[in-house]
Amino acid sequence: MSRIRVVVVGAAGRMGSETLRTITDADDMEVALAVDRGQNVRSPVEGVSLIEFLPDPVEGCDVLVEFTHAESATEHAVRAANSGVCPIIGASGLSNLQQEEVADACRLNGVGGVLVPNFAIGAVLMMRFAQEAARWLPDAEVIEMHHDRKIDAPSGTAVRTAELISEARRTAKRPDPTTTIKHEGARGASVSDVNVHSVRLPGLVAHQQVVFGGEGEVLTIKHDSISRTSFMQGVKLAIRKVRDLDTFAIGLDKLM
Ligand code: NAD
Repeated sequence: MSRIRVVVVGAAGRMGSETLRTITDADDMEVALAVDRGQNVRSPVEGVSLIEFLPDPVEGCDVLVEFTHAESATEHAVRAANSGVCPIIGASGLSNLQQEEVADACRLNGVGGVLVPNFAIGAVLMMRFAQEAARWLPDAEVIEMHHDRKIDAPSGTAVRTAELISEARRTAKRPDPTTTIKHEGARGASVSDVNVHSVRLPGLVAHQQVVFGGEGEVLTIKHDSISRTSFMQGVKLAIRKVRDLDTFAIGLDKLM
């Protein structure tokens, strides 16, 4: 069986580097292109050289893995789909409009694609369990905590979790009792009618708690990525399965 040829964009970054190493170590996939336009960046893997720009069209590849940021990820994913290459977007912060742009390109070109807010299998399960809990306990808030170099807030995982909770609620949540906000942001941001609190500190990687409150009880669902290797099982799964999709999907669970 031939290997899956993968182009990694953002290849010298924290997630891109880990992804290059993972692909190099796997028997059924290979790095076809590694793209990073950062200043003075070096390839993290011996024998794999970096190029600055993603070619147009994208040739000689089956799958594109995107780990830059929302705007360039949209542009690169659309270019991939237009070239018949399946995009996997790991970068966070894409607006609904940007997601639709990629979905349209996938549909027009008849290729599958996926946006993955979180590649950690445990985080996918956390979202699934939160969805289940929200059916019974509609009052929930999300606390997400990330390293101090994360440029977007709230995290893509927190936004997706809030959407899932909102969709799964069978009864309305209780009204927020707060009438006086003494400091702006004290109650977090309302995302799909779920309050989300974002913490940024050195030492953290990616962590999230979903706290559900009921009558005389509190349920906390918690997930911690303590190393970026936690994302790699999901990255490999997405690379192996994305070509089975015939549309642009949201979430790793669509491939599990
Ligand atoms: P990083 O800053 O370490 O890496 C980003 C890399 O992209 C840099 O090397 C930069 O030079 C490169 N880059 C930026 N714009 C580019 C462009 N236009 N063309 C080519 N290269 C470009 O960031 P990171 O920690 O690796 O995170 C990358 C993205 O992945 C972020 O959006 C982050 O939120 C997201 N993320 C997603 C998951 C997930 O599970 N889905 C997990 C962690 C991080």
